[in-house]
Amino acid sequence: MENKKRMRIEDLGEFGFIARFSANFLKKLPAGVLGIGDDCAVLPWKGSKKLLVTTDLLIDGVHFLGEKISPLDLGYKSLAVNLSDIAAMGGRPRWAFLSIAIPPETEIAWLDEFFRGWRQLAARTGVRLLGGDTTKSPKGLVINVAILGEAEGRHLKYRSSARPGDIVAVTGKLGEAEGGLRLILRNISNKNLRLEGRYLIRRHYRPRPHLEEGQFLAGQPEVRAMMDVSDGIDSDLRRIMERSGCGVRVFLEQLPVSNQLRKCGHEFGWDLDEVAAAGGEDYCLLLTVEARKFPALAEKFYRRFGRPLPAIGQITGEKNQLRYFRNGQPVVLSKSGYDHFKL
Ligand code: ADP
Ligand code: MG
Repeated sequence: MENKKRMRIEDLGEFGFIARFSANFLKKLPAGVLGIGDDCAVLPWKGSKKLLVTTDLLIDGVHFLGEKISPLDLGYKSLAVNLSDIAAMGGRPRWAFLSIAIPPETEIAWLDEFFRGWRQLAARTGVRLLGGDTTKSPKGLVINVAILGEAEGRHLKYRSSARPGDIVAVTGKLGEAEGGLRLILRNISNKNLRLEGRYLIRRHYRPRPHLEEGQFLAGQPEVRAMMDVSDGIDSDLRRIMERSGCGVRVFLEQLPVSNQLRKCGHEFGWDLDEVAAAGGEDYCLLLTVEARKFPALAEKFYRRFGRPLPAIGQITGEKNQLRYFRNGQPVVLSKSGYDHFKL
């Protein structure tokens, strides 16, 4: 009892904490309702259509650095990270709610730019802002976005459907946003950065939610599990393992790393395996695919999007065992993916 009283959230970690309280709220949910545990909640809607709901919180100093990010990028990114969760289920985003707590000294011109950034992405993705809330913040900006979307029920992709033998793939390059963040934290002025460095910073500030990719993959029955890469594949694969009751082998030499990241990595001495596997905020999709159908799917993906669908690993039957290999040899990574309470 004594121990329990003194336990802190740091000891449990973000995901241990969610697991601890969520069991109570998952009991006796009505039929057709999916609660806590996936990228979105799923609710019955019109006929075979399902309603998707997701929400994310962005806090100055935790999710963004208010004095560094431009308001235009912050407006864009606040919406983008939420749209990514709709993409992860294979859905179409429709409506948004935006709640903000704003420090009183914030300039109106800054807020106008924030909304311009939001609108840039909202217009492109057909998302309408329907409501929200505005309050004063004693310190630092706090942004909460909720998105509602829709999907055909039989097309939905969950974290819980991976099976041993499945190929694990990603829809984009890994580690670029982390590379960008490392450069931002070094305080190098833009003019002293090479083109590659500026590219990585842009990838950090302007993630593209993979909505078209998600909808395309949702229509392919051989795609079993899917989620978006928000905390880094190391952390995100653990979510798939837990929900699907399986393990994963990751083949490090197969992780898609861009030339821009490789160049900056060499210049600044980064461990690229670590950046690609443990770096968060890439917001591409992570999926598992029935192995024998993977080559045909990758080809179809290439024809549709003009880029490969890199295989990075394989699902195993070893429950909750995430193992890394390089050219067949086991490797231990020094850093794992992002958890808000474990650093
Ligand atoms: P994501 O990164 O896709 O937003 P997470 O892995 O962070 O999802 O969250 C896992 C699940 O836990 C999600 O279904 C999310 O809605 C749920 N969740 C996280 N925090 C809370 C909370 N405070 N109350 C209820 N559900 C939560
Ligand atoms: Mg997600």
